[in-house]
Amino acid sequence: MKINELFKKGKTVFSYEVFPPKKTAPIDTIRSTLDAIKDHSPDFISVTYGAGGNRADMSTLEVALLLKHTYGIEPLFHLTCVSNTREDIDYITEKLKENDIENILALRGDINPDIPPKDDFRHASDLTAYLMEKGGFSVAGACYPECHVESASFLEDIRNLKKKVEAGADHLISQLFFDNSFFYDFLEKARLSDINVPIEAGIMPVVNKSQIERMVTMCGASLPRKFTSMMQRFESHPDALREAGIAYAIDQIIDLISHGVDGIHLYTMNNPYVANRIYESVGPLIKAANQR
Ligand code: FAD
Repeated sequence: MKINELFKKGKTVFSYEVFPPKKTAPIDTIRSTLDAIKDHSPDFISVTYGAGGNRADMSTLEVALLLKHTYGIEPLFHLTCVSNTREDIDYITEKLKENDIENILALRGDINPDIPPKDDFRHASDLTAYLMEKGGFSVAGACYPECHVESASFLEDIRNLKKKVEAGADHLISQLFFDNSFFYDFLEKARLSDINVPIEAGIMPVVNKSQIERMVTMCGASLPRKFTSMMQRFESHPDALREAGIAYAIDQIIDLISHGVDGIHLYTMNNPYVANRIYESVGPLIKAANQR
């Protein structure tokens, strides 16, 4: 099933993101997460691809196959081009076709200053165009409600996003954010720029302090006062902080669904407890939104 078909039905899409287990761990270690979230009947589950990943690393494919053939859930395969040549992409996409995986999130990936990037594809839009040329895939792209960290301006980032959509991205998933007003402003700018594909809001429940420090360094998300007060108040009480982080994410999702968002993409961090708690609260809202 091509994921873009879901949006055509006017659905509020609900999806998850998981990452493959570490190379040293067996593939089965992801099963506890998938066992827990399968009952939520997500519309699809995306599977990350290691920064610097290449054709030698098949862990994303293994998880995608588990989803598709054991759990009956549509996988969205993340594929980065920063470390892949055209031949690598040909090899990987052949494997996807052989295994009936037809949804790809085309990404550039973060540039590691110590490893020169491969230069067959400079941007995600180049990879998107190449995948469209091959045919047979529904291709999604990433977007940044607070602007990508490398962009000189929001306008430049939106222009580049438009190139990605013109290249063939038929659905976008946003970077995480903690203040919904950034997402609404971004949505307005995108629509005014004639970017009309569905845009899912990426929500990450923050459940410990080190997670937030890492995330903010990597993606530059702003932290609203309500969020920082919560972190400071409960930083030495891990259970309380986790519950506050879950409640914060639920609050964001309720507001987004009330505003008629195209979809919610939940970064699960492979934490079944957190995914279950969030789904308990927002599942009925998603069902209600889809009963229009
Ligand atoms: P691009 O779209 O190429 O954008 C990168 C920068 O280049 C931006 O500043 C953009 O404005 C600019 N740009 C884009 N196109 C052009 C153009 N045609 N001309 C000039 N400038 C241009 N990383 C991983 O390693 N693995 C993952 O699995 C992964 N999953 C992700 C999932 C989501 C939903 C998101 C939001 C991010 C994910 N990332 C992942 C991180 C992502 O790879 C980084 O944010 C990376 O820095 C940019 O990737 P991109 O695909 O958005 O790049």
